[in-house]
Amino acid sequence: MQIGKEAFLRWWDRLLCAFFPRRCVYCGAVIRPERTVCDRCVRELPRIVPPVCPFCGHEKADCICNHKKQKFQAICAPFYYENTIVKAVHRYKFEDRDFLAEAYARNMASAVRREFSDVSFDAVTFVPFTKKQMRTRAFNPSELLARHTAKELELPCETLLQKLYETEPQHRLTGQTRTGNVFGVYEVAPDVSLDGKTVLLIDDIKTTGATLSECAKMLLLGGAKAVYCCTFAIARSQKK
Ligand SMILES: [Zn+2]
Ligand SMILES: [Zn+2]
Repeated sequence: MQIGKEAFLRWWDRLLCAFFPRRCVYCGAVIRPERTVCDRCVRELPRIVPPVCPFCGHEKADCICNHKKQKFQAICAPFYYENTIVKAVHRYKFEDRDFLAEAYARNMASAVRREFSDVSFDAVTFVPFTKKQMRTRAFNPSELLARHTAKELELPCETLLQKLYETEPQHRLTGQTRTGNVFGVYEVAPDVSLDGKTVLLIDDIKTTGATLSECAKMLLLGGAKAVYCCTFAIARSQKK
């Protein structure tokens, strides 16, 4: 009996799925092979829905930043850092980085297209690791997201910054100390020309924005015309 090519491919697909089931790119639940997101995530993901505050990246309804000016022009993100997205970031860092980076970068690229539609970018860059971090960690999550976001937006991804010292992880610190913790830690990478460039700066998560602001400051001091930021997720500010 002859098996048609299409029937064979369907059979092969099912066989692969039996051994390597297709999982939701956010929560990891097993889903039908033709899908990328489960029903629950479609309904419940903490999406940031326009209108968006350009100063803090929150929905305008959630914004409590009083339009405090940052070094960057504006920030956007597809999601708040809560619920399933916390789990998603964990999976991204520790499990399936390449596959998830592609999916998450697609979300980030659409946020950029939507929020920064009138901006013409010259380059995409990312919050760098120190040389020691690059040796000891499997990868830099911000860099991988930047590379895939750049590809989606058809822009070059360039290493424009370098990190000089190790710092305490920002999540262990509180508001003011976070700014001090990153002060003077980044500088423009050698042999980089920033003159008049409009840069899209990528990080995985924004909490207070201290790291992004410091990186933006260095890019501007190095000659960049403007810096815009995009992260995969933003930690929602708590009303005091
Ligand atoms: Zn899901
Ligand atoms: Zn705001």
